[in-house]
Amino acid sequence: MSNNKYKILIVEDEENIRSFVTALLEASGYQVVCASSAKSGEMLFSSYLPELVILDLGLPDKDGMELLRYIRGTSSVPVIVLSARTDENDKVAALDMGANDYVTKPFGSAELVARVRSALRNFRRVSDSELSSGRFELGALTIDYPSRRVTVNEVEIKLTQTEYNIVALLSEHCGKVLTYSVIISAIWGYNDYNSIKKLQVNMANIRKKFGFSPGEKCFIENELGVGYRMSGS
Ligand code: CA
Repeated sequence: MSNNKYKILIVEDEENIRSFVTALLEASGYQVVCASSAKSGEMLFSSYLPELVILDLGLPDKDGMELLRYIRGTSSVPVIVLSARTDENDKVAALDMGANDYVTKPFGSAELVARVRSALRNFRRVSDSELSSGRFELGALTIDYPSRRVTVNEVEIKLTQTEYNIVALLSEHCGKVLTYSVIISAIWGYNDYNSIKKLQVNMANIRKKFGFSPGEKCFIENELGVGYRMSGS
C-alpha cells in the first residue's frame, strides 16, 4: 500500500454493522478491509497485515474467540472486540485472551472512533521504546521506573509499594483494559475472595493521591465489573 493510512480489518457477519463501521472508519481517514466470517478474517489478517482489528465475537463459522486466539498467536496488533453480548464473562474472557478493548452493541459512532484512535495511539506509545527508556509520560502523569517515582503536574505522588506496582502495571499496558484477575495475579500472585475488594481499596487511594475525586475522569478508568485501563483520553 502506498499511502500512509492505518489499515483496519473488520470481522463482522452482520452486513448493516459492517457497512456502517466501514463507512465510519473510512470517513475518519482509515483504510478498511472486511471479512464476514472467521475463516475469511483469518486469511485477510495474514495477507493484509492490518494495524488494528475490529472483531465480532458471534461469527457464523467459528467463535470470534478462536480468531482472537489465532491473531494473538502471531501478533500483538490492537484488537477491539465488538459484541452484542452484554455478559461480563465474555468481555473478561476476550480481554484475558489478549483483546485490547471492547465495545458493546449498540454503540455510538463517536465512541467507536474514539476507541480506535486510542488503541492505535497507545499501541504506538508502547512500541516507541518508551518503556526501555525507563520513563513513561501520559499528559500530566509521569512515571520513572528505575526510581519508582510518580509525578502529576511535576508534584511527586507518594504511593505505597502496592499502589506503585498497580500504577506501573497499568502504564505498561496503557490503553488496554486489564481484568481484575489479571491485575490481582500480577500484583499479589494469588486470587482469593477478598482480592477484588483489596484492589478497589488500593485504586480508590491511588485516585485520591492523584487528586481526583470519585467519579471524576482520572488517568485510570474503571470498566465496571471488568477491570481497569490507563488512558490519556
Ligand atoms: Ca455477529
